[in-house]
Amino acid sequence: MGVKNDGKKPDNEPFGNWKGLLYYAVLMLIITMLLNGLLFPAMRQRVIETGYNDFLSMIEAGKVRQVQRDQDQILFLAEDAAGNRQVYRTGNWEDPELTERLYSAGVTFGKVIPQKESAIMAFFTNWILPIGVMLLLGNLLSRTLMKRMGGNAMTFGKSNAKIYAENETGKTFADVAGQEEAKEALVEIVDFLHDPNKYADIGASLPKGALLVGPPGTGKTLLARAVAGEAHVPFFSISGSEFVEMFVGMGAAKVRDLFKQATEKAPCIVFIDEIDTIGKKRDSGGISGNDEREQTLNQLLTEMDGFDGKKGVVILAATNRPESLDQALLRPGRFDRRIPVELPDLKGREAILKVHARNVRMDDTVDFNAVARATSGASGAELANIINEGALRAVRMGRRVVCQEDLEESVETIIAGYQRKGAAVSEKEKRIVAYHETGHALVAACQSNSAPVHKITIIPRTSGALGYTMQVEEGERFLMSREEALNKIATLTGGRAAEEFMFHSVTTGASNDIEQATKLARAMVTRYGMSDQFGMVALETVTNQYLGQDTSLACSPETAKAIDDEVIRIVKEQHEKAIGILKENAAKLNELSAYLLEKETITGDEFMEILRR
Ligand code: ADP
Ligand code: MG
Ligand code: ZN
Repeated sequence: MGVKNDGKKPDNEPFGNWKGLLYYAVLMLIITMLLNGLLFPAMRQRVIETGYNDFLSMIEAGKVRQVQRDQDQILFLAEDAAGNRQVYRTGNWEDPELTERLYSAGVTFGKVIPQKESAIMAFFTNWILPIGVMLLLGNLLSRTLMKRMGGNAMTFGKSNAKIYAENETGKTFADVAGQEEAKEALVEIVDFLHDPNKYADIGASLPKGALLVGPPGTGKTLLARAVAGEAHVPFFSISGSEFVEMFVGMGAAKVRDLFKQATEKAPCIVFIDEIDTIGKKRDSGGISGNDEREQTLNQLLTEMDGFDGKKGVVILAATNRPESLDQALLRPGRFDRRIPVELPDLKGREAILKVHARNVRMDDTVDFNAVARATSGASGAELANIINEGALRAVRMGRRVVCQEDLEESVETIIAGYQRKGAAVSEKEKRIVAYHETGHALVAACQSNSAPVHKITIIPRTSGALGYTMQVEEGERFLMSREEALNKIATLTGGRAAEEFMFHSVTTGASNDIEQATKLARAMVTRYGMSDQFGMVALETVTNQYLGQDTSLACSPETAKAIDDEVIRIVKEQHEKAIGILKENAAKLNELSAYLLEKETITGDEFMEILRR
């Protein structure tokens, strides 16, 4: 149990195993018997047998209230000595005076006790009904329990892991674009799964596991599914977080279960997503230690060592925090292959866009290269989203095909959020924003070694941006020179510089620019070795490569202070440079801002034309 076979048989049947059902049935039988023996007789009406003489004397005494003829007997209701009403039964003697007597005593004729139930009815109410009710209750109870604990209430110690087994994932390497190196590394695994014997004959054993590492949305899960699809083998997948359980030991049980099922179905792929959840470095002597997680990890390590790699079970795992993984997992014989799945480059982005455009009706003129160039740093998932947003926009616009404009707009939507055409921005603020954005663009354009301006807009976005300047590189860039980094900082300060220069006051609109400029200047000093004062010394180390590039300082407090001073100096210098550029081009700044204010959005070409004339 535990396998979800393409959703055919959901695994939340409470009595999935017959032993549990048997126990339950026996338990219920006992309970019903107890109920029948102790409780129900007390509830049923008791009938007291009595003689005809007593009956007559009770009539005399005026104790009888009601009388009923029951075949050749008489049932009657009367008060006993203690004054409680009881039902009595007596033989019916052929007494001609009885009716007269009863009548004069004021006794009513009618039903004394409700219709005596038939044997079948009695059986039903005493046995079937209680059992039915209890079955229902038990069913409900175990369902809720299972939902709470994620485990089968009937079978403690056994897991009920939601392991998704797909017999065919239906994905192939053709669905994964731009991850050529990763695919190359995985082809061998596909080949092995096709024909494990070929490898066994020669005595070669393939690595038992491969670890896919890379930022979120780069296609790690997709690649794993594609491997299974290419090899036409079942695909077991489970997320690391599903191992983390309420009860200690359940996670380990799930691991055992998973491997048991996988070996039965070999050759197959076992995919453990987000393995860092269980595979985190184990604490060395800390107090906090998470026993459950550690047990699960230990179980995983044991299982990986234990199973026969020649059978054809390949374990793939994915993570975006490889640095936090326990070293034991990466040891030879476990996940010793590490396959980087990086953010796509220009060519990769174009390929991914094309893969996702396959099923979308696209205008022939769509330039995927241009879109790819504008989306430097985007992941595969984001690119897929861009195509979809573009298609949605085409529908909104009432068009039948997706055109370039839709894609460009959806790029901006992904970067900056939706347009907020209705946002009430005052004329004065609009003017400030126009100068701010023109400032960025102008500083960028007046420096060599700076990416060309692609678009400037002052239409507010849902992200809160009141406008922005888009710069798009001609081709792919892998390195940034010191000059380019400095120019970038100058460009970032250009917005604020224009506000100062024009209005002699500053606004909060530059907060994001400031943050970016500071980050870059800081990285120049601490990581890129680009400041004369410190030279090639790593003062900060990146602790989280794929998620947000968190860094931690690795220097003395005095050095930290000196770093701050250097960062401030760099940003200040570039800010001054930007102001200088704007002063020199004051006329153009005014002209361009006025034009932008009027048009709200201008292209890089329009911008350059005005700048050059
Ligand atoms: P990850 O597991 O690395 O976080 P996923 O594999 O879940 O990323 O990718 C999410 C989605 O993004 C995929 O379903 C696919 O539509 C798209 N995608 C990501 N990378 C690629 C790629 N290289 N080629 C095609 N589509 C991709
Ligand atoms: Mg994933
Ligand atoms: Zn700005």
